[in-house]
Amino acid sequence: MNTAELKQMADRLRMTAVEMVYKGKDGHPGPALSIADIMAVLYFDEMRLDPSNPDWEDRDRFILSKGHACPIYYAALSERGYFGEKVKDFKLRALGSMFQGHPTMQKTKGVDMTSGSLGNGIAVACGMAIAGKYRKKDYYVYTIVGDGELQEGVCWEGINTAAAHKLDNLIVFADKNGWQSGGSVEDTIGSNNLKERFEAFGWHAQEINGHDIDAIKAAIAEAKKAAGKPSVIVCDCVKGKGLSFMENNNAWHKGVPSDEQYQTALKELGGAE
Ligand SMILES: [Mg+2]
Repeated sequence: MNTAELKQMADRLRMTAVEMVYKGKDGHPGPALSIADIMAVLYFDEMRLDPSNPDWEDRDRFILSKGHACPIYYAALSERGYFGEKVKDFKLRALGSMFQGHPTMQKTKGVDMTSGSLGNGIAVACGMAIAGKYRKKDYYVYTIVGDGELQEGVCWEGINTAAAHKLDNLIVFADKNGWQSGGSVEDTIGSNNLKERFEAFGWHAQEINGHDIDAIKAAIAEAKKAAGKPSVIVCDCVKGKGLSFMENNNAWHKGVPSDEQYQTALKELGGAE
């Protein structure tokens, strides 16, 4: 896909995510919209995948460590063809549904790791990346973590481990949207200087606009050149990106659009169709 098509896809994923939360009457739209552009690049440009064979040994792996953002993950998997025909009603967070409130690998095709208990993604990704090297596979492992999530201590155990094992097949996206469930990251922990912190742990680190498709693609290409080091791409993102009433409004960490807001979403995002 070219840049314009990927932009369009990102908004399409956004709309599907909003529709999922609206119909399911529960969910986390703000954190989902924040990472739509990264997801569009990964699933429609970058990752080596075969939706008809989700467990293909040579596929690139993906872990959505900030698992509560899963509506955008389900939207990407659906658009990519993992569920056959496009899903009309995801029944998000419903009892027994394939689409739980946090990604569940036993329930949903294409989900490589159960997540949502915050902090675990990077450590699990290390295991996948070490396994890839041990078995002489050339797949990459991608993970998206939240900036609030990076306050979890276990993240830094994984970050330390990745550098020690020189996991240059691991690429982490840090969604630096400045917010977490309880408020702003700055108010919670002081500073949000993620790039410097990853560098201090021996990582190859870049910081980009997380809504710029070309910048995301270029950063991945750059990360792949960093031999002997794991890579982080710190993405400056806007929580709720794409919807005027949701952008940078942390009340949308979790929330359900009203009928009127849903109509606004259809107008602003062009409709999921
Ligand atoms: Mg955040």
